[in-house]
Amino acid sequence: MTPIYLDYAATTPCAPEVAEKMAQCLTLDGFFGNPASRSHKYGWLAENQVEIARGHLATLINADPREIVWTSGATESNNLAIKGVIEALRQQQPDVPLHIITSAIEHKAVLDAVEHLRRWHGVEVTLLNPDSNGLIHPQQVSDALRPETCLVSLMAVNNEIGTITDIAAIAQLLSSHRALLHVDAAQAIGKIVVDTKAWQVDLMSISAHKFYGPKGIGALYVRREPKVAVTAQLHGGGHERGMRSGTLPTHQIVGLGEAARLVSEHLEEDESRIRRLRDGLWQTLNELPDIHLNGDLTQRVANHLNVSFAGVDGEVLLSSLAKVALSSGSACNSVSVEPSFVLTALGLNRDMAHAGLRISLGRYTTDEDVDRAGAEILRVVRALRER
Ligand SMILES: *Cc1c(COP(=O)(O)O)cnc(C)c1O
Repeated sequence: MTPIYLDYAATTPCAPEVAEKMAQCLTLDGFFGNPASRSHKYGWLAENQVEIARGHLATLINADPREIVWTSGATESNNLAIKGVIEALRQQQPDVPLHIITSAIEHKAVLDAVEHLRRWHGVEVTLLNPDSNGLIHPQQVSDALRPETCLVSLMAVNNEIGTITDIAAIAQLLSSHRALLHVDAAQAIGKIVVDTKAWQVDLMSISAHKFYGPKGIGALYVRREPKVAVTAQLHGGGHERGMRSGTLPTHQIVGLGEAARLVSEHLEEDESRIRRLRDGLWQTLNELPDIHLNGDLTQRVANHLNVSFAGVDGEVLLSSLAKVALSSGSACNSVSVEPSFVLTALGLNRDMAHAGLRISLGRYTTDEDVDRAGAEILRVVRALRER
């Protein structure tokens, strides 16, 4: 039997509507042309599809279509935003000191890009630590600000614990400071209302495969007024207003666009249905003694749970839970299984961080899925504790 999929925070399946639109962009009878071809209809038609998709995404996040740069995903968007801003500043003023504020619980694509700049380019870095509920507070940003702070990079929603950062409040306190605000919104799109104007962000990273679009495509929102300077990290044909070269993958972009359109249409209804399922599952799991919810209970997205069961190892639990597909709080590398750095940053000890289980629901999760998964997790945790 195929396991119940409760790992929507890792990736989502494509919506059938998305897959259908993508298929129309591949073959001779469809929009397969190079969107940069100016001399014939194949190119024009493909370009038209790309611009329709750009419009759908811009509508979803309340942006101007010209503020959207297509990338290969949020990993690339984060790298382009962070390295691109620092490089642009260095080109303007080679010798001024630069300081970045970010947090200890960002995605590795942010943490490692920032670490690269610290190590090789002399940029100073402050890593904010979350409170025990996983929240980063605006006051912490305020306290860390220096005259030379040029960039604040914080995620809207954490991928492991689902907590929501108050981006608008952080943008507000930066309004009188020169520092730019970059937001990794990969986990926010499709879960909460994301509005670049209400939030007042300068740069924002987006990934299609977290909201029912295909893998390998994303976008970086780059504010136009006032204009944010970003130096390209991929050089070539000068696509995307010089910020990101490479032939545009029409099928991927059209998939992202359709996924964005579906989010605009379904967000509220998806959100309330999924919240009801998630709350029901949490009630079921909460019957177990010594269960700990990781991350704030209320300031989190509706589809997300992260729990630790005292005395039960996360890896053992996962391998015993063959009927449910979920993630553990541990990150495997080739040498060892390390406890999640996010859960460790919340102050969990190694055992409880190892025991973390991320359960994330989505658009195609049913009542029956949740009932069966809940019963199965109860059964397995009880059995492991009795051993
Ligand atoms: C998934 C994810 C990324 C990486 O996105 P890709 O498109 O897979 O490169 C970055 N940040 C967060 C918060 C994510 O959840």
